Amino acid sequence: MIKYHKKMKHEKYHILIPITATMAILTLLFFFMIGWINEYTIRADAMIRSIDSYGELGNINLSAYDNLTSRLAFWSGIAVLATIMVIIVSFTSLKRKGRDVFRLAYYDALTNLPNTDCFKFYWDDGILEEESLHMSKIIYLINTVNFKLINMTSGYRIGDEVIKEIANRLKYHLPNTTDLFRLSADRFILVQDQTVDTLPISEMISLISKAFKEPFKFQDATKKLSIQVSVLTTKDLNCKSDDILRKCLIDMDHLKVSRDQKHLIYNREIEETFYRESLIENELREVIDGRDTERLHLMYQPQHALGSSAVVGVETLARFDSKHLGTIPPQEFITIAENKQLIIQLGKIILKSACDFACKLTEFGHGDIRVAVNVSAIQLLDEHFTDDVVDIVRRSGCKFTQLELEITESAVMDTFESINTKLKYLRDLGILMSLDDFGTGYSSLYRLQSLEIDTVKLDKRFIDDVGIQNEVSMITAEIIKMAHIIGLNVVAEGVETESQAIFLQLNQCDIAQGYLFNKPMKPLDILSMLTIESLTTKEVFDAS
Ligand code: C2E
Ligand code: CA
Ligand code: CA
Repeated sequence: MIKYHKKMKHEKYHILIPITATMAILTLLFFFMIGWINEYTIRADAMIRSIDSYGELGNINLSAYDNLTSRLAFWSGIAVLATIMVIIVSFTSLKRKGRDVFRLAYYDALTNLPNTDCFKFYWDDGILEEESLHMSKIIYLINTVNFKLINMTSGYRIGDEVIKEIANRLKYHLPNTTDLFRLSADRFILVQDQTVDTLPISEMISLISKAFKEPFKFQDATKKLSIQVSVLTTKDLNCKSDDILRKCLIDMDHLKVSRDQKHLIYNREIEETFYRESLIENELREVIDGRDTERLHLMYQPQHALGSSAVVGVETLARFDSKHLGTIPPQEFITIAENKQLIIQLGKIILKSACDFACKLTEFGHGDIRVAVNVSAIQLLDEHFTDDVVDIVRRSGCKFTQLELEITESAVMDTFESINTKLKYLRDLGILMSLDDFGTGYSSLYRLQSLEIDTVKLDKRFIDDVGIQNEVSMITAEIIKMAHIIGLNVVAEGVETESQAIFLQLNQCDIAQGYLFNKPMKPLDILSMLTIESLTTKEVFDAS
């Protein structure tokens, strides 16, 4: 248990006690002053009265004074007693009030656990006791993943009961050397001093998990709750509670992105990644809002027919130049766009621009070259996907047959039926469908039979080992053969060497894409390359 000074927030109310005491002393002083002035006046009065007509001082009669003095002494005594009573009463009531106010402000009424403000107060006001002050702390942020469902399906009253149960279970399972706070609805924070006896993080996490092992029973239902835990170790006790909570929440964010992970230990790298991602996210938003469209541009990598070497298609590859971070690799910004729910809008911008390029190709006499566009799984799953594609193609004025969409195996295999219906709808319009990165996922060629696609793109990892590893060469050859049997074209991607190209050509692979032929190029460079090529071809034809 972390040692806190006994001084607590409600002690602020004790400021009233010295004030009351001072007032009491002042009251007493006031009475004594009155008494003294009275004594002085009476003595003087008695003296004046005792002066006889000859001006001689006679016997002074002090009986009136004595009477008054004893009355004054009596009333002063009463005043002192009353003041003491007032101090005692106000002290007790203030103490109680202070405690009540403290409980109200710093304790959660539902679980009886200290709340976030209490955590902040302890941490920020530096009121840890000397012993605890110099110890590193381990902070666990516990988040229940599917609690919201209970609130939504069974209502808040049941939700509250479950929260109470969670708190009780945590209190039961966790060692009393830790401090548990309720951070928000279904989040708890646990603070532990790091000493030689402190349980290792893994054991603490298994204790926390124990609290969630049994399903929660409510009404007639039972529900198992899963949790995520982010762990932060800090030696820097000068850092503020907000900073600690922020770091824990950054972890949580990452845990959400990688859904399979159950706990994450905070480190500097995560924070740097978080800032980098936030920057990229903001700049992507600027592109989407139309505030800074220049940052995003498209490159096109030619695809060559193996045999004739003619360019039969181009793959659209998005590029993003950050104001602050320079060029961002597509895997990075596309993943951020996916995680931040920006990919649908970004995908539409990319598709629109690719369709405009398809129009340009037609304008330059290359209307037969397909423009392939990568599509993320999230885009495919979107209910407006097909409508959006049709709308963008129609508005741009290019032909459906000029467009090809590259989809990945994982997207399709997870929700085969619904995706396949969409693919069929678009194929019927003339759009080609290509299965990207084939061989990296888990789909079998057999499954591909029933999938609405035209082409498989053999992943670069196969191509890298072709001609080097006998097994890979044999598998690649087999895949090409089988794909042809079920009526699919095969594109090999990442072709870098002559020997790979020769192997692929010998095994009847249809199309190749890779640095051996071209790197991704700017649209204008592609247009001029195609123009030169067609001129050269024309010259060859003219000459023959
Ligand atoms: P991908 O669709 O598999 O794209 C092929 C990647 O291989 C591209 O990388 C391309 O530049 C690279 N590549 C092509 N030939 C060679 C080669 O001979 N050697 C090597 N080493 N690499 C080669 P890039 O442009 O960095 O794109 C990476 C990934 O980013 C793409 O993989 C795709 O998954 C994603 N991506 C790119 N643009 C978009 C987009 O507009 N939308 C979506 N959803 N994803 C995109
Ligand atoms: Ca691709
Ligand atoms: Ca690929």
